[in-house]
Amino acid sequence: MEYRIGVIEGDGIGPEIVREAHKVLECVCQAYGHRLSWDKILMGGCSIDACGVPLTDEAVAQAKAADAVLMGSIGGDPATSPWYQLPPERRPEAGLLKLRKELGLFANLRPAYLYRELKEACPLRDDVIGDGFDMVIVRELTGGLYFGERTTTEKDGVLTATDTLTYSENEIRRVAVRAFDVARKRRKKVTSVDKANVLDSSRLWRKVVDEVALSYPDVSCEHMLVDNCAMQLVRDPKQFDVILTENMFGDILSDEASMVTGSIGMLSSASLNETRFGLYEPSGGSAPDIAGKDVANPIATILSAAMLLRYSLDLDTEAQAIEQAVRDVLADGVRTADIMPQPGRDREGLVMVGTAAMGDKICEKIRR
Ligand code: NAD
Repeated sequence: MEYRIGVIEGDGIGPEIVREAHKVLECVCQAYGHRLSWDKILMGGCSIDACGVPLTDEAVAQAKAADAVLMGSIGGDPATSPWYQLPPERRPEAGLLKLRKELGLFANLRPAYLYRELKEACPLRDDVIGDGFDMVIVRELTGGLYFGERTTTEKDGVLTATDTLTYSENEIRRVAVRAFDVARKRRKKVTSVDKANVLDSSRLWRKVVDEVALSYPDVSCEHMLVDNCAMQLVRDPKQFDVILTENMFGDILSDEASMVTGSIGMLSSASLNETRFGLYEPSGGSAPDIAGKDVANPIATILSAAMLLRYSLDLDTEAQAIEQAVRDVLADGVRTADIMPQPGRDREGLVMVGTAAMGDKICEKIRR
């Protein structure tokens, strides 16, 4: 099969980490007999420099024409970059917000997976970690408190601010369907997280999730209150497979879950719409402090590329080949600087490599 991939390299370390993910995708597709065509899309600071705006209409059209978009990261150092002298709607991040809106990306997937080899970076105790954990947080991305009506009023000299949390059953249903589909490709368990003891929006959330669950008899479904979930993530993270939740709860819980896995350089993500289309990017930013030095960890972007194969192209075996190659390379002791134990800790058997060499090592494992 031939697939069309849009590529947003972006700024900072973006071009370096995307180059490695591109290399790995080409490698796995060659091994499995697929063809990829690549369409470079400008977004972020580089688009401001070239076109005066962070995302042109032409770039949006390019993204819409692709089967999926692979992205690095955008933005510069807000303290020093001239991009941040511009009004907010012309800054790099405005390009990403516009693209998400144009593409209708309502479901954000963030896996939190603890590699045995990187256990040392996990702040949890050994008896809590056990053999590691492997979960995906599916967060609703376009509704809830962040997009509801907001006002600040003053009466008798007292300021009052109001934010509104609104969800329609359609918004809940479409993200719940996504979460159950993801669970079907994994260990078949969904934990839906809400605050149904207090919030009406959560009671509707729970009702709709239960309705969706009826269409997935092979997937188990449980409900958990968000405060309990925050505790369970550090008390027993192994219990989770897919966590489904609304926008603000997901924002907070996905950061909590990712912190317990260690380095930001390992965290992939996907944002999906109602079709098979998705935008795939590492969870970290453009890391201007290390850009152009061949030290950035490309694994988060490479694992995002594996998600692209799984969720947009339905190529599970090929996605697994990438994920296995990453595990094998880590097991061989290959590390980028961010996942190397601090000086003075045990580094025996470990070898430090740069961005490009990490990509090459992963490709070597895939070819074997
Ligand atoms: P950051 O994630 O870029 O960097 C935080 C720290 O993590 C830095 O020390 C950096 O060197 C390190 N780091 C990040 N990715 C790494 C990798 N792959 N390998 C090794 N180390 C890595 O966050 P920041 O410094 O707050 O933001 C920098 C810029 O990135 C800002 O302009 C911000 O707006 C932007 N940003 C973009 C996105 C995106 O494109 N989706 C997301 C977050 C931040």
